[in-house]
Amino acid sequence: MTKILAFAELKDGEIRNVSFETVAAARQIDESAEVVAVVLGSQNVEDAANQMIQYGADRAVTVTHDLLANYTSDGYTQAAMAVIEQEDPDGLVMGHTSAGKDLSPRIASKLDNGLVSDITGIEGDQFVRPIYSGKAFEKKTIKDGKTFVTIRPNNIAPLEQDGGRSGDITSLEVDIKDLRTIIKEVVRKASDGVDLSEANIIVAGGRGVKSEEGFEPLYELADVLGAAVGASRGACDAGYCDYSLQIGQTGKVVTPDLYIACGISGAIQHLAGMSNSKVIVAINKDPEANIFNVADYGIVGDLFDVVPKLTEELKALQVK
Ligand SMILES: Cc1cc2nc3c(=O)[nH]c(=O)nc-3n(C[C@H](O)[C@H](O)[C@H](O)COP(=O)(O)OP(=O)(O)OC[C@H]3O[C@@H](n4cnc5c(N)ncnc54)[C@H](O)[C@@H]3O)c2cc1C
Repeated sequence: MTKILAFAELKDGEIRNVSFETVAAARQIDESAEVVAVVLGSQNVEDAANQMIQYGADRAVTVTHDLLANYTSDGYTQAAMAVIEQEDPDGLVMGHTSAGKDLSPRIASKLDNGLVSDITGIEGDQFVRPIYSGKAFEKKTIKDGKTFVTIRPNNIAPLEQDGGRSGDITSLEVDIKDLRTIIKEVVRKASDGVDLSEANIIVAGGRGVKSEEGFEPLYELADVLGAAVGASRGACDAGYCDYSLQIGQTGKVVTPDLYIACGISGAIQHLAGMSNSKVIVAINKDPEANIFNVADYGIVGDLFDVVPKLTEELKALQVK
């Protein structure tokens, strides 16, 4: 029987959704494989391991260490390699997140193994991944070595949670040492609301919002929808919002179920970050705007008229 490791990812001790997607991906790679969840962290590790099992893993291996409180390349490589050496898996699946993007090539190089990164789908033995900033897709087959992939968050649906499902959880002692970087403190920008990279719905604003205050109606719409707010670089460059909201080639790559672009022209560099969203709604007063070429639904109009009306209608629906 093949064995596939599905790596969980914790943020402040909370398990991230992409963790459950790694389990589903492992099952898609080989339905009959033994799927072993790997949970590395400093707190809530056991709880996360249990959740990984409830979402379809057969068992879990954990490494708990104070030096795993925050992601460091050295610390996480040491912990992950210890688990891989113990388990000798046939496959590995990680999230294509900031940490996964850093960790996976290190592990691949230590294993002298290939890596197919940023996959958005699995078709039989083929791994589908966007190339040229999402303008095309390629399909890759792994011919030898371990099947090692990273998955783009929000593309492979997690399996249904089964609260009654149980499995072995073993903890592995790893002497993490000689770290070249130690994180002493993490200072987060205050941000309320939903994490952009994992959001199911995103309301994004462009230069068309015209000012910082212009984002207010977008936040109101996002509130009603339980959505995250994002932006084009045009809006960030103009100082209307923080760069942490930027979506695109040099910003975040997102794949929500619904993306509402307000006052965004649809430059190729913006499309690179959002064109794989499942449903795209564009609101723009220029009927020739390029964003309409990728939109499933287009509204030609002034966003300051359209967005508040949408918010009102959605609120009314919720009241009913
Ligand atoms: C190397 C490089 C990397 C880049 N990376 C990124 C990136 O990661 N992300 C990104 O977004 N861009 C990126 N850019 C910038 C990109 O080329 C565009 O300049 C940028 O996306 C434009 O932002 P925008 O659509 O908000 O602004 P604009 O192009 O100015 O478009 C504003 C739109 O708002 C509409 N509008 C105006 N008023 C209203 C209104 N009241 N109601 C409705 N619609 C209205 C207009 O019709 C227009 O279509 C990059 C550029 C380069 C060169």
